[in-house]
Amino acid sequence: MNVPFVDLVSQYQGLKDQIVPALENIMGKAQFIMGQDMRLFEQEFATYCTTEYAISVDSGTSALELTLRAFNIGAGDEVITVANTFIATTLAISATGAKPVLVDINPETYNIDATKIEAAITRRTRAIMPVHLYGQPADMDAITKIARNHDLLVIEDACQAHGAQYKGRLTGSLGDAAAFSFYPGKNLGAYGDGGAVVTNNAKVAERLTLLRDYGQKQKYQHLIKGYNRRLDTLQAAVLRAKLPHLNDWNSARRQCAARYNEELKDSDVVLPVDADFAESVYHLYVIRVQKRDQLLAHLQSKGVSAGIHYPIPIHMQPAYEDLGYQKGDFPITEKFADEIISLPMYAELGKDQITYVVSTINEFINNQPRS
Ligand SMILES: *Cc1c(COP(=O)(O)O)cnc(C)c1O
Repeated sequence: MNVPFVDLVSQYQGLKDQIVPALENIMGKAQFIMGQDMRLFEQEFATYCTTEYAISVDSGTSALELTLRAFNIGAGDEVITVANTFIATTLAISATGAKPVLVDINPETYNIDATKIEAAITRRTRAIMPVHLYGQPADMDAITKIARNHDLLVIEDACQAHGAQYKGRLTGSLGDAAAFSFYPGKNLGAYGDGGAVVTNNAKVAERLTLLRDYGQKQKYQHLIKGYNRRLDTLQAAVLRAKLPHLNDWNSARRQCAARYNEELKDSDVVLPVDADFAESVYHLYVIRVQKRDQLLAHLQSKGVSAGIHYPIPIHMQPAYEDLGYQKGDFPITEKFADEIISLPMYAELGKDQITYVVSTINEFINNQPRS
């Protein structure tokens, strides 16, 4: 049996009848840039996130970077985030000229350990950027409390958490602003790159519309020095066709996670835990095992595609040598980086496929010599 890591082809087969005419309509009108579907998607995504505004952009990385810029964060400033994340989180901070300051993770949730944030605050700190990694919300009440006490902004990296909930409230609505990615493999994915910022702050929303479009409100009248970071109308049309399905896909992912949990409960692996405050949307289903690299190779040899998110923590990346961190600075992140493995996860993943993945894992574990 072959089990892919994600299966965007079977999702497309089911949506073809909606997507193809929408794309043809745009091409027929040649409304490629800032077309009607872009505006409509922004309204629909803001409604989905229960926020006042959504500003579409060309990627999740741009969404993060332009949000920081909209809040005038840049050179000389520090932004606190987490050592266990995708590099885009810190690249967005660095792109503004600000310095990423890292914090270790909570070993239960794999998200930023809120109890370690205060020690990372300096007089240069402007914002905390929690990442809702793997689709599970970070502990936002604890983070917001610290931010309030120190007069800091909270900018959510919600790039893996479309539709996830924290104490019944949607990610994206929990901080001062939030960034989403519509990279094809995300829970809500375009057919290319895309992203959005959501916020209730009218001024920041206004600034973001300028920043993404050459700093102009009217053509050729440039109020600030902006960028070209717009979402293609074609991508917006794809996202509009997909958004109504997002909740169903997320529930299907949660069911797949529950099935994995059940089938793996007697295996010698560490299962993911839904924090009591969280409803994860399982962008990734991540377990921990000993001999991770061998398991990965075994799965691959049996037709199962698995992944590692992420094998090298931010502070151990050559790109971030300049931050001056050492091995040992974030011990939980470092330990987990050697043990985590992400199993196939997508809404269409079948029962028999999960059973096959689990039996392939068990086959590997049971063939290990006892230690
Ligand atoms: C995907 C992702 C991003 C970046 O999004 P892109 O659309 O790929 O630029 C940022 N942060 C996290 C946690 C992500 O998973």
